[in-house]
This record gives sequence, C-alpha cells and structure tokens, in this order.
Amino acid sequence: MIDSKTKLLGLIGHPVEHSLSPIMHNEALRDKNLNYVYLAFDVLPENLKYVVDGVKSLGTVGGFNITIPHKVEIMKYLDEIDKEAELIGAVNTVKIEKDRAIGYNTDGLGARMSLEEEIGKVENKNILIIGAGGAARAVAFELAKNNHLTIINRTVEKAELLAKEISEKLNKHIYYNNLNIDIGDFDIIIHTTPIGMYPNVNVQPIIDTNKIEENMVVMDLIYNPEETVLLREAKKQGAKTINGLGMLVYQGAISFEIWTGVKPNIDVMKKAICNSFK
Ligand code: NAP
Repeated sequence: MIDSKTKLLGLIGHPVEHSLSPIMHNEALRDKNLNYVYLAFDVLPENLKYVVDGVKSLGTVGGFNITIPHKVEIMKYLDEIDKEAELIGAVNTVKIEKDRAIGYNTDGLGARMSLEEEIGKVENKNILIIGAGGAARAVAFELAKNNHLTIINRTVEKAELLAKEISEKLNKHIYYNNLNIDIGDFDIIIHTTPIGMYPNVNVQPIIDTNKIEENMVVMDLIYNPEETVLLREAKKQGAKTINGLGMLVYQGAISFEIWTGVKPNIDVMKKAICNSFK
C-alpha cells in the first residue's frame, strides 16, 4: 500500500523502458514488507545535472540505480564516492543519506557473487575477459584482486588501456590481446560484449567455441536470451555455463541492501525476472 511514508527508489538511465530492475526490486520490497516503491526514470543526458539536487530536495528518496549512459557522468554530482566505485571509475548505485548523495558500484561484486554461487570461491584462477566496455571494467577490477586476468577486445587498444589501468591501480600485471588469442589456457571465460543478445540471438560468438574444453567455466553477462549461442556451444563442449541473470540479481541485491539495510530474497528476485520473460 503506497501511503505518505512510502520512500522512492528508482533507475535513472536513457533509455530505461526495457529494464527488469523495477520488477525485480518491487517484488523483493513486497516480499520483505518494506514501504518503498521502485520506478524507472528516462533522463536525457542534458537533464542529469538536475537529478541529485532534485531527489535530495524531495526528502522521500532513498536512492537510485544509474545505468547507461550516466554511470560516469553522475559521479561529479555526488558528495561521496565509495572506494570500489572510485577504483572502477563508474557508479551504478546512489544512496541518499539526509542531504548527502553517496555513490557505489555493485556490478563487479554482483558478477563475483554469481560466479561463486555456481562454482565456489574464485581465486588464483586464470580468467579471460572478452570485451573492454563498461561491464568488463567492473568485472575485471573485482576479479583482478585475487586472480590472473587477460582482457581481449575487438579494439585491442581499449583492452590495452583497461589492462594498464588495472595493473597500475591494483599493482599487479594484467595481460591483454586481440580476439585471436588461444582460449584453451583459461579456467574461466567471461563474455562481456552484446554479441548474441536479444534480438540478434543467432549471431555467432566472436571466439572459436571448438577450443572450449570441458574443465572450463564459461560465463556470459547476457541474460536475454537465457542461453546465448556461446553458452549453448560451450555446453556442447562439456563446459560449465553461467548466464547473466545471477549478476543482474546480485548487483541489484547489493544495491537493495545499501538502500534499505535489509538483505533481499535472491530467489524472489530471480523468479520475478524469469516470470517477466514468459
Ligand atoms: P559497452 O560499454 O558498450 O561495451 C561493449 C563491448 O562489446 C566493447 O568491448 C566492444 O568492443 C564490444 N563489442 C560490441 N560490438 C562488438 C562486435 N560486433 N564485435 C566484437 N566486439 C563488440 O557495453 P557494456 O555496458 O559493457 O555491456 C555489454 C553487455 O553486458 C551487454 O550485453 C549488457 O546487457 C551486458 N551486461 C549485463 C549485466 C548483468 O547484470 N548481467 C550488467 C551490465 C552489462 P569495442 O571496444 O571494439 O567497441
């Protein structure tokens, strides 16, 4: 029941109409009996400057998620940035605390939690990250802390820039290469490009899936479709496969806890998303 004590949460992005976050968060809020509502706000880049002061002035806003294209730009309007988000250089979650706006990034930890839910602790692994965009950044910074990383990308200069930045900031060597690298040497492959994403579900993967071996784990950050061509081919090779649903849910679950102080029910969140595909 929405009443005069209901607090507002939301997603700020452009576009936002296909986002699954409102469904996922509202189900989780209902499940925990929390008096919040989560809405999606389509904010044009030229209007982003009004957002933080606007929500602070409303008083009933608990916080919001930030998505494409505002994850970097929002940082200059915040009062404080958590050290993880500072390291990654992007914010996907903002908490409004009295008159302060604090930025966090939950994408990398969300990806780690999803991986670890499936395969246990991820440390000292040889990990290949395909792609060097925003999602790759968050995942790479998180997993580089206690694993060996190689980043490959269509535009190799971007892989080089990201690998060098992580190497400098975390003081450990990160390798980079082009897409033609031999993928047979890795324990875990994480695909972070949009290749295979709905509606272009039949586009072929950008790596040679015949080289995937049965002892490997292949994660695709895409969650629609639930099984991309890459994951289907990896499964045929006998590899363990993980889609992007878990990362979506865990990054949301961490944001939920930052705003409300309550741990949401992960199964409720997963079910809300799966039902929305039916
Ligand atoms: P982004 O910043 O635009 O990065 C896109 C990356 O894909 C770049 O490395 C780009 O390479 C590469 N790429 C794009 N088109 C390509 C092509 N035709 N051939 C080869 N490489 C190509 O995007 P993003 O925000 O990182 O998102 C990437 C994917 O991750 C999307 O599918 C998104 O839905 C998914 N994602 C999932 C979650 C989750 O919670 N599961 C969270 C975030 C993102 P270049 O540098 O050469 O252009």
